Amino acid sequence: MTNNLIAGKTLEEWKKLYPMLEQIISTEEVFWDNPYYLPFEEANKKVSLTENDIRDAEERLNRFAPYIAKVFPETRELNGIIESPTVEIPEMQRCLEEMFHQKVDGKLLLKCDSHLAVSGSIKARGGIYEVLKHAEDLAFENGMITPNDDYSIMDSQKFRDFFSNYSIVVGSTGNLGLSIGIMSAKLGFHVTVHMSADARQWKKDMLREKGVIVVEHTSDYGKAVKEGRKQAELDANGYFVDDENSVNLFLGYAVAAFRLKNQLDEMDILIDRDHPLFVYLPCGVGGGPGGVAFGLKMVFKDHVHCFFAEPTHSPCMLIGLLTGKHDQMMVQDFGIDNITAADGLAVGRPSGFVGKTLENVISGSYTVNDQTLYILLSNLIDSENIRLEPSALAGVHGPVQLFKEDAGRKYLNDNQIIPKMENATHLAWATGGSMVPKEVMDDYYRLGVEIKSKN
Ligand SMILES: *Cc1c(COP(=O)(O)O)cnc(C)c1O
Repeated sequence: MTNNLIAGKTLEEWKKLYPMLEQIISTEEVFWDNPYYLPFEEANKKVSLTENDIRDAEERLNRFAPYIAKVFPETRELNGIIESPTVEIPEMQRCLEEMFHQKVDGKLLLKCDSHLAVSGSIKARGGIYEVLKHAEDLAFENGMITPNDDYSIMDSQKFRDFFSNYSIVVGSTGNLGLSIGIMSAKLGFHVTVHMSADARQWKKDMLREKGVIVVEHTSDYGKAVKEGRKQAELDANGYFVDDENSVNLFLGYAVAAFRLKNQLDEMDILIDRDHPLFVYLPCGVGGGPGGVAFGLKMVFKDHVHCFFAEPTHSPCMLIGLLTGKHDQMMVQDFGIDNITAADGLAVGRPSGFVGKTLENVISGSYTVNDQTLYILLSNLIDSENIRLEPSALAGVHGPVQLFKEDAGRKYLNDNQIIPKMENATHLAWATGGSMVPKEVMDDYYRLGVEIKSKN
């Protein structure tokens, strides 16, 4: 029966080809090292995006900095550049070692995108960038501005009236909606956010307060995106932010790499042949972590090793990479429910664009169960006093997994990096959390403590 085929094969055939699917389907935690991983120079030959594309995005963000500084006062300290701190978390490193009975060689850092200005998540990179790019395109086409102008003139009634002739639409599990909604509304666009069922109430409330139209869906992210796309198509002046395929989003995220390089330099942290960098990126549809990983490979080449982290109930990118079928399948095809407390990662079908771009670039991928995310959440508060949302903890589990899992050790061995691990830097990308209301965060914390006490 053709209905039972998943991208051309039966479930049994897929399991036979990729035995790890058994564990993935039973929602066990897994670690996968990518057999298609290639030296970056080779992998990059197949990718059409270049370092210049990322530099172009960086320059665009620089042009907008005076405007951002003007309309979001919290960005003034960094002159309108929306960037997060990178910090060492030695207490958490110790805590991880104790908790999982696993020594973690090297130094553990946290990239605090949780504390990015304006929208408190990694989406403040790609999401805001894409809205700014669209606004600039419209302003150029209509002779409103030139690249040499001071963009703070966009903070005016004239520009808001101009942008109010246009609409922006997006589908989201929450955080992308926040970024697109806040930025678009500020510029004067009409903006509609289609929210999936997982989206937290406070995110919807916050957007409505800012004049954003929020459409609530009872189904998952895939449906919210589909409805958003449909709405935008009906409007000649409508623009759809396509989280599943957008090159602009991807480039906005990738800019993070140049900035991280500067931060590591300032911290006197060297990355080279003898000092490898391991980066663990929570992954939903893939644009955020994929864009960041791509940028990092441009900067650090083979000295950086990037891993995706997903919830055990939403391992869409892992299945896509493992089978090479990317967006041709979704986790539900394998009987996995896509229900997770990590709302930012509750995505059943990965981006095909990101999967194909990164299939030879990413070092591997692993899954984490929700209980572990909550325990890590409360432990990070206890050890470092840093508050993240559940999704953002997925990366923190990475260093332990790398050393503990057979596939992780195999990766280190195959790439001849075991003797260098003393000098390694591990960077967990903390993708969100600072905008979570206090009561909600307190509930997360209590849950983590409770789960820990039962284990
Ligand atoms: C969106 C999001 C991610 C993942 O980004 P994708 O582009 O969907 O892969 C990770 N963490 C948080 C908190 C997010 O909001």
